Amino acid sequence: MAYLDRAKEIFDDAVKVRRQLHENPEVGFELPETAKLVKAKLDEYGVAYQNVGNTYGITGTLGSGDKGKTLLLRADMDALAITEKSKSACTSKNDNGHLCGHDMHTTILLMVLKMLKENEDQLEGQIKFLFQPAEETLNGGRVMVEEGILENPKPDAGMALHMWPNGDKVDVEIHKREALASALNFRITIKGVGAHGAMPNNGVDPVFVASQIINGANGILARELPSNKGASLSMGYINAPGGAINVIPDTVVLEGTSRSLFPESAEHVAKRLPEIVEYIGKAFRAETEFKVMANCPALINTESVADQVMSSAKEALGDNYEVVNVPAYLASEDYAHIASRLPESCYFFVGCPLPDADGQVYPVHHPLVQFNEEALIVGSATMATAAQNWLRDNK
Ligand SMILES: [Zn+2]
Ligand SMILES: [Zn+2]
Repeated sequence: MAYLDRAKEIFDDAVKVRRQLHENPEVGFELPETAKLVKAKLDEYGVAYQNVGNTYGITGTLGSGDKGKTLLLRADMDALAITEKSKSACTSKNDNGHLCGHDMHTTILLMVLKMLKENEDQLEGQIKFLFQPAEETLNGGRVMVEEGILENPKPDAGMALHMWPNGDKVDVEIHKREALASALNFRITIKGVGAHGAMPNNGVDPVFVASQIINGANGILARELPSNKGASLSMGYINAPGGAINVIPDTVVLEGTSRSLFPESAEHVAKRLPEIVEYIGKAFRAETEFKVMANCPALINTESVADQVMSSAKEALGDNYEVVNVPAYLASEDYAHIASRLPESCYFFVGCPLPDADGQVYPVHHPLVQFNEEALIVGSATMATAAQNWLRDNK
């Protein structure tokens, strides 16, 4: 439990970092103040770093590649463009909110790096770290890959974690295989010809075509995917600008998302959905455009690494906290862009409920969500122990 004790010792300083991040949330790829704080802490710990390409992403290494393999530890740094509504010692000072807990993830990775740096000579290999921007767009991880995060040095495995604030205790929750779903986010534009509602024959009705596309697209799930390897498909946005009770508009825009835990099903939907849109559009004389807004793979853990994190968490935490296996969640996470390209990986959750005065807890992205800072100790002790053990056991 060495790292648990050390995490408790550095907790007060970590809370200061976390609260500074929480009060000053930045979103997307533009994280100048966040990156500045991370770099100041790395300087303080004596950890060398560099930018990931021309982004606010930050990377570097600890230990030595000559002694063993390279393990990537990743944290996301971005907040959401949602106004925080809870009142705490560190409520956001601007219109953005750290409502997904990425301020906790950034702080935990800083704690892990501080502790591993203190034990650098005991590392039987190399730690590569990544603080990444724009997770919430589901494109940040992809850009990190394009900017070369998987080269020089090339990681042999990866680990990352996420907060889970709506459970009933502070604990560690690990998926043995499927962790999170893929996400295909898309926009469909249907161009017809506007007309009077009384004389549709004079136009090409994009509202009618949109309805056929919505129905047809669901046929992919119902008729083309095996029932034990399903996917979901939701179109949560439909807009017909210029339309009215008796006016057929010339354009309809649909936006939606498809999710799956099964890579082959996600690939099938990604291939077939644009075909369905194009062919149904042609069938009814409309022009269509299919735009991919994000296409993030499912996040699948490697069982051996998940087992390693499980045993390391138990070793790190002793009887103080529970460590459990959990089923997959149907949210998505852009670490999958990185994990799907690594030979091995494990992504896990840290339970961090902090009930409000009414005893309520809320999920991530909720304006009232709060995070229990004790998870800083549990997350960092688990990750530091798992990282050191993985390098030891995979030389
Ligand atoms: Zn989120
Ligand atoms: Zn998140």
